[in-house]
Amino acid sequence: MFEDLDSSMHMKREKAKARLLRKSSWWQHKLAKPQCFYCRQSPRPEEITMDHILPLSRGGYSTKGNIALACKSCNTRKKHYSVMEWDEYLRGTETTAGSSPLAGSTIPTSLSNKRSP
Ligand SMILES: [Zn+2]
Repeated sequence: MFEDLDSSMHMKREKAKARLLRKSSWWQHKLAKPQCFYCRQSPRPEEITMDHILPLSRGGYSTKGNIALACKSCNTRKKHYSVMEWDEYLRGTETTAGSSPLAGSTIPTSLSNKRSP
């Protein structure tokens, strides 16, 4: 019961902070040259969403470090994925950072190619 109250207060507070951040020059700067944090594509203005990397419902905060610009499809995908699946997805984008993470899925070498020295 107390936990519920705590988390709803937390959500309320952090959502208010997110609203403020949305007006900040930091966010405006992102909007000027949008790039999705997850898929690295440049979303159109109507597809830009503000995403909490660690969701508020999981104890995340509205800080610059936890807020990312995401395209609508990634934001939707995130909502539909379970936590585990989303972690896997993120790991996939990390290993191919710099190139295009959506161009073909790569099998982690640690799994597919386990060689002993
Ligand atoms: Zn995206």
